[in-house]
Amino acid sequence: MNAYQRAVKDIADRRREDLDEGLSVWRNALANDEGLRAANAFYQAEAVKKAQRLPNELDKARAELQANAARLGLTQQTIEPPVRCKACNDTGYANGKYCKCVVKRVIQSDAENLALPQTDFGPAKKSAPKAISKLYDKAEQYVNEFPQNKKPFFIIIGSAGTGKTILASAIATEMLARGAATVTVSAFEMVKRAKDYHTQFAIDDYRDLFTPMLDCDLLVIDDLGTETVLKNITREYFYTIINERWLHGRNTVITSNLSPNDMLTRYGEAVFSRLCDKNKANLFTVTAPNARI
Ligand SMILES: [Zn+2]
Repeated sequence: MNAYQRAVKDIADRRREDLDEGLSVWRNALANDEGLRAANAFYQAEAVKKAQRLPNELDKARAELQANAARLGLTQQTIEPPVRCKACNDTGYANGKYCKCVVKRVIQSDAENLALPQTDFGPAKKSAPKAISKLYDKAEQYVNEFPQNKKPFFIIIGSAGTGKTILASAIATEMLARGAATVTVSAFEMVKRAKDYHTQFAIDDYRDLFTPMLDCDLLVIDDLGTETVLKNITREYFYTIINERWLHGRNTVITSNLSPNDMLTRYGEAVFSRLCDKNKANLFTVTAPNARI
């Protein structure tokens, strides 16, 4: 069972527990309160009459039952608790796909999904090197537009020491606080997850850390270009990630010290065309010590 299947099962189990809990509250109340018991019996008898199209007092019986329930502090919500996720009615699936709540559960159950340290946006902005400080305004706009970003790709290119990783983790921290299911990885870790996925998915208790990178609300890939290039894995899986996120317009932040030309050479035309798609991506270049954005 992978992390997704486990999350769906947990959600279904929790729904069943919620309903059992509500039912047992009702049963206890019936067992302990004579007035409620009488009103319930009256209601059921009248409901049968109504179904048989006989003269009945169902409206009166319903009002009496409601009054007795209210006297005991029982509401519809206690007897039949509302679903916790309206998007999937606690089934774990919405529109034939894993629901957002499943993705969130998978990600939250997994501290390894957050590789970058928590970074508060405000203080980070204040102490940012000059070269990158202007980018914080762009980042703020990016965060505020979420999840309706016209350009979901936010790509920061710059040499070491320009503060791009701190900016990326400030974005991630802010988005996380706004409820976005967030995964941050180093490029090195991304390739490791791809390799594990590629080679280990037949193992029963294998924990799938790859697919959250496709499905999460925000993916941050730090230091693109420093990862190992493995045959049949690095390029292929990186394309899978980028293409999936590009297709669905999912927020993706990448930091890299590769120039666009280097990216083209290293990852090929298909990846390059998505990363540099002017309609979906904002590419920022930071050069230390002089700001050039
Ligand atoms: Zn859901």
